[in-house]
Amino acid sequence: MRRPGPTSTTIRTPTSPIIGEALGSGSSAALTWRPIRSAVGAVSKPSLLAVAGLFLAAPARGQEPAQGLGFDVERYEVALAPDVAAGSVAGTEEIAFRSTVAALSSLTFSANGLAVDEASVGGRPARVASTPRGLRFELPVPLAKGARAVLRLRYRGVPRRGVTAAGDLLYTSYFACDWMVCLQDSPGDKAMFGLEIGVPPGLSSLSAGRMKRGAGLRRDPSVQRWETARPYSPYLFGFAIGKFTQASARAGSTQLLYLAPGLSEAELRRLFAETPAIVRFMAGKAGVPLPGGRYTQLLVPGSEAQEAATFSLIGRPELERDSADPQGGWVVAHELAHQWWGNLVTASTWRDFWLNEGIATFMTAAWKENRHGRAAYQAELDVARRRLARARDAGWDRPLAFAGSYPSLPIRRAIQYSKGALFMDHLRTLLGDDSFWRGLRRFTRRNAGAAVTSADFQRAMEQASRRDLSVEFREWVFGPPPPAPPGAEIR
Ligand SMILES: [Zn+2]
Repeated sequence: MRRPGPTSTTIRTPTSPIIGEALGSGSSAALTWRPIRSAVGAVSKPSLLAVAGLFLAAPARGQEPAQGLGFDVERYEVALAPDVAAGSVAGTEEIAFRSTVAALSSLTFSANGLAVDEASVGGRPARVASTPRGLRFELPVPLAKGARAVLRLRYRGVPRRGVTAAGDLLYTSYFACDWMVCLQDSPGDKAMFGLEIGVPPGLSSLSAGRMKRGAGLRRDPSVQRWETARPYSPYLFGFAIGKFTQASARAGSTQLLYLAPGLSEAELRRLFAETPAIVRFMAGKAGVPLPGGRYTQLLVPGSEAQEAATFSLIGRPELERDSADPQGGWVVAHELAHQWWGNLVTASTWRDFWLNEGIATFMTAAWKENRHGRAAYQAELDVARRRLARARDAGWDRPLAFAGSYPSLPIRRAIQYSKGALFMDHLRTLLGDDSFWRGLRRFTRRNAGAAVTSADFQRAMEQASRRDLSVEFREWVFGPPPPAPPGAEIR
């Protein structure tokens, strides 16, 4: 996710990330290619059953299960035909899930602007309804705890957020559950992801994981298949289609790819020249090699700084501004840091989102220290201090693991990004470099692939330093315990 700043366009709150990039902002009309329908078969008319479901199912508000409640998604498999000229997508999807409760009767996913034309489980129709809690599918037969099933669906529509088209470039950013059915706000429910995408002649695609070549893919050369080798949080799913120049580099055994529309290979190499060194630095501090062994940076014309599974979107204006600064380099470092802190080790809920963003912000400062010296580290932390001071001047400070809602994006970022980074620096000063970095390595290695809470981070830092850090964590992360109930006796 981007550096906190007044120019940002993407807002996330702990309960509901709301405002994203406008769909097709800019020049979507310039795109002329048509959807590759063979990717998903012909787009069907809405089935009577599903349409009926949209109107029939309307239980009382209080009975609606929350998104993701009662089940765990194991795999999302999507076949997608984007139609950029129309600003729409059409797709089929399979969601493999496991019930975590007795007699699971429905699945609720994030609300979006898509129309679900057909849905079934085990060959039997699953009624779909748009409810106050999200998009709900009723299972034809209740599922026992621990049992597995696959929800199959067909959908189409215009994504409300998170899809940008410019020229013959199309890319998604953050809001995956606006162009597919998934759980946007359940970062702890990581799942495998596979995407088959229709790509017009002359263009190529980028998505999460690796492209599978020559796999048949329904014998259609216009369909490209991507799949991840490990589970990721749904907000990290994404794709891009375009005509890309490509440059590659290596950092040890890690393969690095730089992609951009309309740039020469030499320009790409110049703009991303620092990447191999940053990969080596981050991997050393993480104690874990770059997950997946491959990382792609896609340079896009807009103002973007968004991590995704195995790749990042980097806005060209951000990168060029950064390159012009002798002590620049935040955007590549910050998004790269997320491949470990955010993507591999993931805050299980938005409450602990500071673990993703505070650590990535701190690691950007640590990279600058390594590259440019101590003053660059301090300068980066001074930016964080000023942002936190502004929030405090506005009467707003909260513990890092604050579970409520924030009044604005800059204030939320002042806490989760800036205060988070300052807490990391505080621990480093308190524990000394040896214990501090040992603790971060322990946290990263022990939780690789997992979803974590602030308590997991405290445990790793305490074990590595052999110190009780409860006072520091209470002051910075958890806040004071709630006051005793009225009438409680003080002994
Ligand atoms: Zn970030």
